[in-house]
Amino acid sequence: MSKVYNWQLGREMAYPYDEHHPQWQFAFIFNTNRCINCQTCTMACKSTWTFSKGQEHMWWNNVETKPFGGYPHNWDSKLLGMLSELNPEGQFWSAGEPSPKAPYGHFDGKTIFEAAEGYSGTDGPKAAIGYLPAPEEWEAPNVYEDHARGGAGLSPSTTLPEHKVWFFYLARLCNHCTYPGCLAACPRQAIYKRPEDGIVLIDQSRCRGYQKCVEACPYKKAINRPNTTTSEKCVACYPRIEGKDPELSPNGEPCETRCMTACPGKIRLQGLVRVGEDGQWVEDAASPLYYLIRDRKVALPLYPQFGTEPNGFYIPPRWVPRPYLEQMFGPGVQHAIEQYSCPDRELLAVLQLFRATQQILFRYSIIEGEKVAEVPVTMPDGKTKVQEIYNDTVIGYNKLDREVVRLTIEEPVFERPERPYANSI
Ligand code: SF4
Ligand code: SF4
Repeated sequence: MSKVYNWQLGREMAYPYDEHHPQWQFAFIFNTNRCINCQTCTMACKSTWTFSKGQEHMWWNNVETKPFGGYPHNWDSKLLGMLSELNPEGQFWSAGEPSPKAPYGHFDGKTIFEAAEGYSGTDGPKAAIGYLPAPEEWEAPNVYEDHARGGAGLSPSTTLPEHKVWFFYLARLCNHCTYPGCLAACPRQAIYKRPEDGIVLIDQSRCRGYQKCVEACPYKKAINRPNTTTSEKCVACYPRIEGKDPELSPNGEPCETRCMTACPGKIRLQGLVRVGEDGQWVEDAASPLYYLIRDRKVALPLYPQFGTEPNGFYIPPRWVPRPYLEQMFGPGVQHAIEQYSCPDRELLAVLQLFRATQQILFRYSIIEGEKVAEVPVTMPDGKTKVQEIYNDTVIGYNKLDREVVRLTIEEPVFERPERPYANSI
């Protein structure tokens, strides 16, 4: 295997291919604090891409209730169990001084690729550790919906704002990983990562349905289609990313995917981040995604310890016990929740941009407004902090640097005119 640098692990790691990076990377942030499990995203995706025969159990976007829900069933706990078994020394993080190349410290355990190096099962050598779900595990995609975990004595923490009884909704799609497990495992080289936007696609004409991608994707987002026997996965609505929709993108501006634009909970913000030749994100403090993920570290990768460097990031739910969140999002959880619990004025302004326009935002700017409120906030340590709120205006710009959205912190009030007006009776 080659050595590649994984910034989410803060170190080099083994990978079957040499480092090679796209110019831009498709990435997204989900704010789990706001998801209402309406599944509008799921249906937006299904009605666009997976409504045909053979795709009945294919949900490229799904929303599961954690901790018990999962699609396919128990996908994460199964893989975590396999990795722990192969690396009984432990899957630990060591803190270290945070730096741009190692913002969360250093992962000392084994990734799916590293655990595969010493693998000697009856099924031969592997590029990555994984498993093939049984057919019934792909059924009931929303199993354990709204099932809570906890009760007196079960949760280690009783301090607000963590709750003794809890669940939360985890929306998921392909993470268009920097080091995809699916791509690493494909014996036909049918899977490729596009140099222009980092989107990971399966070439249907090359796929022979060996399902190595299904086995090796730690997020189980490559899925086999029984009637064609090939594997399919999220295509990141690439015509929209390319700005090919004549109505949404009259001048070729990149637009957000169907699942992102449909979200009524406004939990989603999508972007394209610029990547350097060394694989590092090019510093761009005015990019909403760079600001939230790399600068403020308020959004965290999902299971970074798997090692694929996923490009989906999550603002963790405030009410959930931290040990659960830390095994899911890594060691940055406490910092992210502190930031989100009492955002300063710039962070509060940028958070308004979630689901504000269908076009992808490449830059934001803020016009400062008057102070309008002081609000007491309960912080994760139970102490109270006063949040100062200013009626700032945040402006978002598309790829052509044209203003496409302008919002104030205080929602404006509109008074209806005297009758008659539309729909008056
Ligand atoms: S999430 Fe899975 S299917 Fe998507 S790029 Fe990563 S490894 Fe491949
Ligand atoms: S559309 Fe948005 S709020 Fe609704 S389930 Fe999907 S991510 Fe959650």
